[in-house]
Amino acid sequence: MTAKLFLENPYQTSIDAVVTAVSENTVQFDKTIFYATSGGQPGDTGMLHVANQNIPVVTTKKGEGFEDIWHVLPEGTSLNIGDAVSGEIDWETRHKHMRMHTCLHLLCSLVVGDVTGGSVGADKGRLDFNLPAGALDKDDLIAKLNALIKADHPVSTEWITDADLDANPNLIRTMSVKPPMGSGKIRLVRIGTRENLVDLQPCGGTHVKSTGEIGPVTITKIENKGAQNRRVSLAFA
Ligand SMILES: [Zn+2]
Repeated sequence: MTAKLFLENPYQTSIDAVVTAVSENTVQFDKTIFYATSGGQPGDTGMLHVANQNIPVVTTKKGEGFEDIWHVLPEGTSLNIGDAVSGEIDWETRHKHMRMHTCLHLLCSLVVGDVTGGSVGADKGRLDFNLPAGALDKDDLIAKLNALIKADHPVSTEWITDADLDANPNLIRTMSVKPPMGSGKIRLVRIGTRENLVDLQPCGGTHVKSTGEIGPVTITKIENKGAQNRRVSLAFA
């Protein structure tokens, strides 16, 4: 099991860790700051330092059941269990992922339809909504999105249990995504405050600490992808 430091502090850019598992050119550490590909957000890249070698991390992937995180090294490269490594993520790219990912939460809060898909990139992002044609007004959405960004709402995370959720059924009505039950613990990402809530939903991704950090964005297109599917594509303005 890999301790996922990016869940508590997505701003940590470097780490010292120990190799705990090896499979061909992929390695696991006791703890990591590298986000693993999931929820439409790409895995982190970066650099490892072992003895006097520099080894790139090409991407990062989840193992079985999300408990393990595999760092993918170049073909033919490997490490040994017990190796002490230091490393850093490609922060410039990751920070763009954090900004775009947080922006997709804001988009989600402005649109009534269920989210059926999405993806986060360094320069653009998109969400698919289960909505009929003509349900979204592009200019109106751009204005509302940038207003939420400019308002600089705080972004925070909290953990609740399945039992907490059962005891507070109201909570689920404020969420646009139903949390996965059964694992015992659910991580919620809150934008805004209890009194002035913008968005609250279960998410294991990385986010900026306040919406102002996203910066201005634009909607590049709203496409009709089937009778009940509207695809909204975003880019940094
Ligand atoms: Zn998220």
